[in-house]
Amino acid sequence: MVTITRAETRDVRFPTSLDKTGSDAMNAAGDYSAAYCILHTDSEYQGHGMTFTIGRGNEIVCTAISLLADRITGHTLESLVSNWGKTWRYLVNDSQLRWIGPEKGVTHLALGAVVNAIWDLWAKTLKKPVWRIVADMTPQQIVDCIDFRYITDALTPEEALEILTKSLEGKEQRNKDAENSRAVPAYTTSAGWLGYGQDKMRALLRETLSKGYKHFKLKVGSDVQQDKERLAIAREIIGFDKGNILMVDANQVWSVPEAIAYMKQLAEFKPWFIEEPTSPDDVLGHAAIRQALKPLGIGVATGEMCQNRVMFKQFLQAQAIDVCQIDACRMGGVNEVLAVLLMAAKFNVPIVPHSGGVGLPEYTQHLSTIDYVVVSGKKSVLEYVDHLHEHFFHPSEIRDGYYVTPMEPGYSVEMRPESMDKFSFPGKEGVSWWRSEEARTILEGEKI
Ligand SMILES: [Mg+2]
Repeated sequence: MVTITRAETRDVRFPTSLDKTGSDAMNAAGDYSAAYCILHTDSEYQGHGMTFTIGRGNEIVCTAISLLADRITGHTLESLVSNWGKTWRYLVNDSQLRWIGPEKGVTHLALGAVVNAIWDLWAKTLKKPVWRIVADMTPQQIVDCIDFRYITDALTPEEALEILTKSLEGKEQRNKDAENSRAVPAYTTSAGWLGYGQDKMRALLRETLSKGYKHFKLKVGSDVQQDKERLAIAREIIGFDKGNILMVDANQVWSVPEAIAYMKQLAEFKPWFIEEPTSPDDVLGHAAIRQALKPLGIGVATGEMCQNRVMFKQFLQAQAIDVCQIDACRMGGVNEVLAVLLMAAKFNVPIVPHSGGVGLPEYTQHLSTIDYVVVSGKKSVLEYVDHLHEHFFHPSEIRDGYYVTPMEPGYSVEMRPESMDKFSFPGKEGVSWWRSEEARTILEGEKI
């Protein structure tokens, strides 16, 4: 018996805005941050979960984490995981907290951290990585993890069971692929940040190409002429006919007609998809863009700011997306992600999780492995950005263009205590980087 005795939150911010890592058409200067949740127990185990933000406001998410984690303090781990669907419903059902969501925004980001911390704790007590817990479940046990409220018009528990039962065929081989780190091919965004100069971009493209990557994503959307030059450089290096795939990401800057007009001008570079062409809430807008770009062979992708399973349901029902970019933190943890993986499988849309952020590749490697081994049975690709992994005890890793399947117990986001101290915000004098002279460039600079 393991009882959760208290929850601790940490506000950890990495000053990535200094070198423009993560810069795109909407987010010019983000400081990759973790709103972090540690579940302490009466045992040797702790549960570690986090959600991702890009700086200011991270403290608001930390506050929401404390409020939500209060609901499970004093509960045993066993009581929480024995009926996961019910626990998840309980966590979103504090009517007063629900008022400031519901199931979206800050409270939902916080829910992701708390739910994932429970999964991490559970995985550690079982001595398994999170993906393996799900891979070892029966189809019925997986279905029981999900709160089906609001989605049964698209996917019933019976249909979910059918999908999972069908996927049992070939599962043994896919499990072996996972054990041999051949389950999740990686794609890279490392070269593609908008704030990087052309020389840095060329060097990073060549470097990632030589490491075995076949999929490359570039940020676009601030200046069409500049984008054409950058995409021309990318195609010059990766080629048009060498089996390398190019993707572009606009991070929500356009209205629907603008997205269509802009992308028509980039069609000659043959991108596989345009990611986040417009508002993440505009289901019908995405559908219109998809219709318009289809004759040009350009698909539409979104999901990193899709706030919950209900929105994903509508994107799928409206045939608005070619690629489903689930986010491990923005959803309410593993359970809600499972619901989306199953809906995407039903609608035959591939899962390409969003991973451009601190801790995200650590999480999403589990989710993509689950999708391949247990749900869709199909290999997809997963974003990898080569930043900030050194702060984790079990950093994600790419070998031969594939994610190395995580085998350590847990959900892989346990951060080193020294990293948490060094980058805690506002932090302690003499300990935190944020108290240093260097930090004043950010703290006293323009807020963009
Ligand atoms: Mg993106």
